[in-house]
Amino acid sequence: LTILGLESSCDDTAAAVVRTTQGAAAEVLSSVVLGQTELHAAFGGVVPEIAARAHAEKLDICVEHALKQANLQLDDLDGIAVTAGPGLIGGVVSGVMCAKGLSAASGKPLFGVNHLAGHALTPRLTDDLPYPYLMLLVSGGHCQFLRVDGPDQFERIGGTIDDAPGEAFDKIARLLGLEQPGGPALEQAALQGNPNRFAFPRPLLDRPGCDMSFSGLKTAVLRCRDGLIATQGGLHRQDQADIAAGFQAAIADVLAEKTRRALRLYSAPIRYLCVAGGVAANQSIRTALQKVSHETNTKFAAPPLALCTDNAAMIAFAAAEQWPGRTPDDLTLAARPRWPLDRTKPSMLGGGK
Ligand code: ATP
Ligand code: FE
Repeated sequence: LTILGLESSCDDTAAAVVRTTQGAAAEVLSSVVLGQTELHAAFGGVVPEIAARAHAEKLDICVEHALKQANLQLDDLDGIAVTAGPGLIGGVVSGVMCAKGLSAASGKPLFGVNHLAGHALTPRLTDDLPYPYLMLLVSGGHCQFLRVDGPDQFERIGGTIDDAPGEAFDKIARLLGLEQPGGPALEQAALQGNPNRFAFPRPLLDRPGCDMSFSGLKTAVLRCRDGLIATQGGLHRQDQADIAAGFQAAIADVLAEKTRRALRLYSAPIRYLCVAGGVAANQSIRTALQKVSHETNTKFAAPPLALCTDNAAMIAFAAAEQWPGRTPDDLTLAARPRWPLDRTKPSMLGGGK
């Protein structure tokens, strides 16, 4: 199957072509991502209206580039996949409208894909990995454990009850005067820091289950920073680095311990542990999870950086994975700002977006 994917649910406009062949590894024939960081820089966060307009302007170019790089024309495709949610509604509508246009013009079937399913299925695009596996999906807007039993079978077994780690990375980076996006900048600063100088909390580790919370950690970091500024008149570079390292270590500890618990939930053990989403780009978090995987005798898979953050290859691939069991969407396909993936276990219900 050769599928064109479109992604526009946040601040990246993306198009990609993925080819799957029975019995062989899937191939990313092209993957184009146009970021919007500069457009939102002055506002300290993504402005939905600006994002939607930029997606509407750039989607055509993205599709053109993706087809050209793959050396294909619309006619060569088997289908067109698009993120239909969850995300910023204006952006999702731009993508869905564009995909409908392409589908109507070419007669190729249309598939609306859940953005989170895209992230959660990515390890099967990059690794030879059977179902079921445990997925820690950790990004700018989400943090949840999913048991992935099939391309459309996800069971949420816990997640954040307040902030997502990516959001916390971005906010702490801002507090420390680091550049945006904050995740990579904070990771860089932490390299020079002492993770043990400040004792930041590891929220909810004292409670059973796989739910997580990061807002208290954020407040603790803010207090620590304000305390230093009050006594010293400002932050030294070393203070910045030590706070960054302490904060990153707290997040890594929480994610690792909750992952251990998630793996222990099933009597027939899960043999594969995967991580995806933008925060999965963080090396110290990857290392902490790799350690858990080693301890628990599971195989670990973490997609390369470019497929961890938002991209359209994951959307095209998800549609290819779901292809055998689903009927295509028609032109009534709607954009959904909220679209939970799971059949949630009520006893473990957590919040999150
Ligand atoms: P969602 O997928 O939940 O809708 P999103 O699409 O905004 O959210 P992603 O693109 O998957 O999220 O990830 C972006 C987030 O990942 C940002 O918050 C960014 O700071 C964070 N991030 C990126 N690189 C790193 C890193 N090296 N360390 C920590 N966080 C990182
Ligand atoms: Fe995402």
